[in-house]
Amino acid sequence: MRIADICHPFRAARNPAMCRCFEMFPCLADPARRSSLCLKLALVAIHLIYVGILFLFDGDLVENTKKEPWYTAIYLLLFVVTLIQYFVTSISSPGYVLDAMRTVNEKNVIYRKTSTTSNQPASSKNGSLIVTVDGSPMVRKFSGSDSISWSKLVLDLYSPGTAIRNWTCPYCNVEQPPRAKHCHDCDKCVLQFDHHCVWLGNCIGQNNHCRFWWYLCEETALCVWTGIFYISYLKAHIARLWWKAAIIILLLVTLSISLIFLLLLLLFHSYLILTNQTTYELVRRRRIPYLRGIPERVYPFSKGVCRNLFNFCCARSSIYSLEPLPTRQEIEEKSRPFTCLDVITCRCC
Ligand SMILES: [Zn+2]
Ligand SMILES: [Zn+2]
Repeated sequence: MRIADICHPFRAARNPAMCRCFEMFPCLADPARRSSLCLKLALVAIHLIYVGILFLFDGDLVENTKKEPWYTAIYLLLFVVTLIQYFVTSISSPGYVLDAMRTVNEKNVIYRKTSTTSNQPASSKNGSLIVTVDGSPMVRKFSGSDSISWSKLVLDLYSPGTAIRNWTCPYCNVEQPPRAKHCHDCDKCVLQFDHHCVWLGNCIGQNNHCRFWWYLCEETALCVWTGIFYISYLKAHIARLWWKAAIIILLLVTLSISLIFLLLLLLFHSYLILTNQTTYELVRRRRIPYLRGIPERVYPFSKGVCRNLFNFCCARSSIYSLEPLPTRQEIEEKSRPFTCLDVITCRCC
């Protein structure tokens, strides 16, 4: 779409200033990106207001900073790191199905090229696991000299007898591996889709869930620390200027509400990570065809707490990991009640 086409309605509305602005910054012509940018600016402004008012009102804090600068320096460092983490998460890729498919197809092209020019199998560089598939047979097939198409790769992740057309996204026209979902806000299919975060203006999926968790963690820590500063100020100055105390109390109330929300979100996502679930799978469990019929307390994709944690923390954003659906045998094994021996041998880990 040309800029002139984008600006057309604004020209009709006789707003040349707005049109000139869109010509300079084409990204602002998209209403969705504009609202996302406004939200980001609002979030930065809220952060600056909370910290700015603190330093503006609290003379003791400024005095203490002069005496012991390291304490305030660590706080300000946390403030900067949190904002950086926010922006990095908001622009990070959640792991799009189309990108994973392209990676697989490119690998096939590379392999075909190397096999026509040389009898040697694909080099370790070409054959490196850019896309990993959990479960030994697929890993062997994919990392070896065999080339494999995306459709075949996805079909093998489902139970035998499944028709691939059932898992083809009608919007992207691409075969979705298990746990992937089309996001209507991003208009793309996302691997291990968790949710679309309005505050970040980005999807949370396989490749940025870890970043999102760290952002929640840093934001919670920042809220707690700011709350401590506010309470200390109130303790020392509540009897002096009432309007300053009123502003601080108002900010402290909103901060406490945000903190409760953040803490709950952090705990919820920690639970999801430990059990290898996503928000979408938990909320829409009965609506997702491949999760229907699985007992409520069984986590079908869980590989044990330690392995789930390891996979989550050590997942590299350049690698797409595809998980097959668990077999009936695996589900039965996971549904089995815990015995004393299971507890001793740490079956859940
Ligand atoms: Zn899609
Ligand atoms: Zn999205």
